[in-house]
Amino acid sequence: MIEFKDVSKTFDAKVGTVHAVKDVNLVIPDGKIYGIVGYSGAGKSTIIRMLNGLESPTTGSVTVNGSEISALKGKELRDQRLKIGMIFQHFNLLWSRTVLENIEFPLEIAKVPKAQRKEKAMKLVELVGLSGRENAYPSELSGGQKQRVGIARALSNDPEILLSDEATSALDPQTTDEVLDLLLDINKQLNLTVVVITHEMHVIRKICDHVAVLDSGEIVEQGPVLDVFKNP
Ligand code: ADP
Ligand code: ADP
Repeated sequence: MIEFKDVSKTFDAKVGTVHAVKDVNLVIPDGKIYGIVGYSGAGKSTIIRMLNGLESPTTGSVTVNGSEISALKGKELRDQRLKIGMIFQHFNLLWSRTVLENIEFPLEIAKVPKAQRKEKAMKLVELVGLSGRENAYPSELSGGQKQRVGIARALSNDPEILLSDEATSALDPQTTDEVLDLLLDINKQLNLTVVVITHEMHVIRKICDHVAVLDSGEIVEQGPVLDVFKNP
């Protein structure tokens, strides 16, 4: 479970104090697909950075499965970060490495022996529907296939949470739907909590159970997607 409790984050900027996030209370239960939606500047990146311990809240606390993120340092923080797999808008793949090598990369950093790495990566290749493309380079793949590699890589360390940061924003509508179907499938198969950060409402409508709507750093609405987005 992820919990933001009375979280505010301010920055001292030239223009004065910027309230990036204001009094956010959020509970994301295990196994759900939870959407956080908001326009540019709403505070989405700041929320992600606090979840990953890259920023500390100015006030309030962020806990993931009981550990308060801003209280962690060194190895504890690194171990905690491994529990959150991330996927990105521009995939962030290594261009000189093959599909399999990209997926193995986090395991290499975690010093997993080669044979074990390869076995794990092959399973993930299959899970994301890229069998036969193991030895391709990212430049030979379509956008959707690149994101499948990103998803497989994010899962390589068996994270507790998959965090999607605008992961379909660079994809066309059909490819977006395919990638979202894959996320839904992974959520069900692995019973993995998925947090979907996006500025696109249709992404939320398609796969999320719950949504929080962020506007100027504040949650202005939250609840089951069907309630929040129901027509009046
Ligand atoms: P989003 O990801 O939804 O676009 P951000 O979290 O990046 O939103 O930003 C929220 C607000 O906080 C914006 O007004 C942004 O300019 C401001 N902000 C974010 N990070 C900083 C920073 N390091 N210094 C000053 N202002 C910041
Ligand atoms: P998009 O779908 O956004 O057009 P691309 O596959 O073109 O995605 O690129 C994604 C990111 O990877 C971009 O930030 C781009 O600068 C970088 N990139 C693309 N090709 C290469 C490459 N051959 N080597 C290094 N970085 C690259």
